[in-house]
Amino acid sequence: MTKTLALLGATGSIGQQTLQVARELGLRVAALTARNNVDKLEAQVRQFLPRLAVLYDAAAAQELRQRVADLDVEVLSGPEGLLAAASMEEADTVVTAVVGSVGLAPTLAAIEKGKRIALANKETLVCAGELVMAAAEKYGAEIIPVDSEHSALFQSLQGCRDRGEVKRLILTCSGGPFFGKSYEELEHMHPQDALKHPNWDMGAKITIDSATLMNKGLEIIEAMRLYRVGIESIDAVIHRQSIVHSLVEYRDGAMIAQLGTPDMKLPIRYALTYPHRAVSHDEPLDLLTCGALTFSAPDMEAFRCLKIAREVAAVGGTACAVMNAANEEAVWAFLRGDTGFNGIHRLVERALDKVEVKYQPSLADILEADRAARECVKAVL
Ligand code: NDP
Ligand code: MG
Repeated sequence: MTKTLALLGATGSIGQQTLQVARELGLRVAALTARNNVDKLEAQVRQFLPRLAVLYDAAAAQELRQRVADLDVEVLSGPEGLLAAASMEEADTVVTAVVGSVGLAPTLAAIEKGKRIALANKETLVCAGELVMAAAEKYGAEIIPVDSEHSALFQSLQGCRDRGEVKRLILTCSGGPFFGKSYEELEHMHPQDALKHPNWDMGAKITIDSATLMNKGLEIIEAMRLYRVGIESIDAVIHRQSIVHSLVEYRDGAMIAQLGTPDMKLPIRYALTYPHRAVSHDEPLDLLTCGALTFSAPDMEAFRCLKIAREVAAVGGTACAVMNAANEEAVWAFLRGDTGFNGIHRLVERALDKVEVKYQPSLADILEADRAARECVKAVL
C-alpha cells in the first residue's frame, strides 16, 4: 500500500482526482509535476507541501520558483525534472498521469527504482509496452492500472491462479459523443462537439480519443501488454451506461466484471491501496435506479481508428509507437482546427504507410518511430 507518492501530471483530470484521494487516504505527496500551469501547480504545492515541484516548461518553472520562494520546495524543469520526480528516494509510488508518450522515460526511471507504478498514462504502454513490462519484471516494480477498464480487469483477475483459464478480456466502451453516427456524418464534427463526453469528464486528448474510439484501440493494446494476451483474446463492446467497467471471461463460461459509477477516484484509490480496499465516501452505484445495462458491437466502418488499432496490435513492433505518436499529433491538429474529425484516422494511416516497422524494437527504435511519425503528420499538415 502506498505511503508517499510522486504525481506526474498533477494539474490534469487524473492528477487532481489523485490529490483528492491522497488527501482522503492521508498520503504524503513528495513531488508534483505539470507542463506549464503555474497557477494550479502553485496552489497544489501550497496545499500538499511536496519536496519537489516540476514544470516541464523552463520559463513557467522559473516563475513558480519565485512564487514559492517562501516554501521549502525545490523547483525543476524539463525532462530531467520529470526524471527526478519519478525516481525520488522517498516516494514508494509514482502516479503517471501525464498525457502522451512524454511519460515513457519517467515511467522507466520509476520502474528501475522498483517503485509501484499507478499507471494512467496509457500512451506509454502502447508505444513501449513490451519494454516497460520486461523492465517491471526485472526490477520487481508493480504496475497497477488506473485506466478504469484495466482496473476492472485487474480486479476481475484477483483470485485467478492460472492465467491459462482466462479465455477472453472484454473491454467496455461508452461509444463517445458520436455513437450511432455514420462515417459521412463524422466528417463534419467539430472539436466543440467532440469535447462533450456523455459520461466522463477528462482531459482534451483522451476526450477526442473517446470520440474517435482510438481510446478503445489504445486500451486494447494496453490490455495486451498488461495481461500478456494476444489480440484474438480481446474484444471491445459498446456499453453506453459506463457502469460495467470491463469483464474477464473464463474458459468455463464464467464472466467476472467490476461495476460502479463512472468515477475515476475508484480505480485511483484501488491502485494506491491495493491489495487492500479503502472506505469511500462517494455515492455508490444504486442498482435500483441505474436503469438497463445494454451491450452492442462497435461500428468499425464509421470509427476507423478502432479498426486501425486492432490491425496495428496484430502487427506489433514499432507500429504501435507510430500509431500512437501520429494520433497524438493528429488530435492536437484537430483541436487547433488544422484537420477534420476523419482527418485524424487519415493522418494516422499516412504515418503507418510511411514509417517502416521494426520488430523486437529497442528503446532507441521506439523513440525514432515516435519522432518519424510526428514528423510525417506535421509534413502532411
Ligand atoms: P489532462 O490533459 O487533464 O492532464 C495532463 C497532465 O499532464 C497535466 O498535468 C499537464 O500539465 C501534464 N502534461 C501535459 N503535457 C506534458 C508534458 N509535455 N510534460 C509534462 N507534463 C505534461 O489529461 P488526463 O488527466 O485526462 O489524462 C492523463 C493520462 O491519463 C492520459 O494518458 C489519459 O489517456 C489517461 N487517462 C485519463 C482518464 C481520465 O478520466 N481523464 C481515464 C483513463 C486514462 P499542464 O496542466 O501544465 O498542461
Ligand atoms: Mg479507459
